[in-house]
Amino acid sequence: MKASKYVILGGGMVAGYAAKELAERGLKPGELTIVSADNALPYERPPLSKSFLAGKDTEQSILINPENFYRERGVEVALNCEIDGLDPGRKNLHLKSGDELGFEKLIVATGARVRTLNIPGSHREGVYYLRSLGDSKRIRQRAGSAKHAVVIGGGFIAMEVAAVLSQGGVETTMIVREDRIWKRFFTPGMSRFFENYYAGQGVRLAKQTKVVELRGNGAVTSAMLATGETLACDMVVAGIGVEPITGLLATSGIDVTDGVMVNEYLETSKAGIYAAGDVANYQDTLFGRRRRVEHWDNAVSQGRHCAGALLGERTPFAHVPYFFSDVFDLSYEFWGDPSGADRIVERGDLSTNSFSVWWLRQSRLVAAFTMNRPDEEREAASRWIQSQQPVSAESLSGSQPLSAAVN
Ligand code: NAP
Repeated sequence: MKASKYVILGGGMVAGYAAKELAERGLKPGELTIVSADNALPYERPPLSKSFLAGKDTEQSILINPENFYRERGVEVALNCEIDGLDPGRKNLHLKSGDELGFEKLIVATGARVRTLNIPGSHREGVYYLRSLGDSKRIRQRAGSAKHAVVIGGGFIAMEVAAVLSQGGVETTMIVREDRIWKRFFTPGMSRFFENYYAGQGVRLAKQTKVVELRGNGAVTSAMLATGETLACDMVVAGIGVEPITGLLATSGIDVTDGVMVNEYLETSKAGIYAAGDVANYQDTLFGRRRRVEHWDNAVSQGRHCAGALLGERTPFAHVPYFFSDVFDLSYEFWGDPSGADRIVERGDLSTNSFSVWWLRQSRLVAAFTMNRPDEEREAASRWIQSQQPVSAESLSGSQPLSAAVN
């Protein structure tokens, strides 16, 4: 049986950043193996629905570490390598090839897989999901010759892909099942802003409906909506969420409930085994609740944190959840968790592309959104969520300096 002191199961962003951190902290050749089901070295995922999809980035430019990084540091990356079991007692992984791989410490970073459509015609050529580099390449290629696209969903993938396709000259319609875009976390005013912005860029939005069938003669040529409308299209991209990949842990005895259950140290219930990234359901000490976060920043931060854990550190992962998105010429950021907020305050002007939104609970900031705002707002957002200091909604909502909201 082969063995490696440290093993990372999953070759995504957690692996890329944990490897980088370990290398910076004196990793020795032969100590780390990354087991990846993907066929590419760890790459950044955000560009897949933004700059890479738009043709502005290359496969090389989105690598987290250059190819020679792994070779020069003696890090083994086993690509196209799947496992079918993990034995925490014997500390080994069973590979589908029949081999075994032993470890002293393991990070489970298996990520998530896309939810797929379950409607007639969903198997047709021209129907895409976006998760991997390969997916993004296929969509990019199709978009080169497509005239009409249907984008299903109203979340991150749908918003970002619709923006890229539309900018590339593909006439794009988004199909959203809610009565407004991103109802789950946008305020009505924010939804209105983005809906108007997308409409202004030529993206059509069909709300409160769904695609019931994808028709075609082999490849997709039209999408039937529940309203009875038929949309001609030569490509469909569905961004309807993801599910954590945990099946391979089924017999491991590791607690799995909506992801791999870890404590605030990112430790699973089995000694020496950690989880990080999209798959990790961790105890968030800042908000006093469990959460699983499917964003770039979380994978990076938890990957680095777990690298420290492999080296023997034991500190809680105390981190304000964060994400960013770029659509058309807009860039925005979001910190925290708005659930349970009892007051929402806006600064700036929601009819322009410069505004911020602040969610308060019992006069404490719990979440903030900023777009084209001064740096002091971006900095205050995460600082105030972390400090849990009282914030005055009245001062925040007016045109007073930001500092007037806290004392
Ligand atoms: P998402 O952000 O969770 O959005 C899923 C969307 O699909 C929601 O609008 C949801 O509507 C809708 N939906 C769910 N099931 C559906 C169905 N059967 N039919 C029609 N619509 C359905 O997921 P995503 O956009 O697919 O993104 C995938 C993952 O990549 C997420 O984890 C996301 O965080 C991550 N990602 C992040 C970024 C970023 O941070 N900028 C960018 C790209 C991707 P409801 O709200 O009604 O459920």
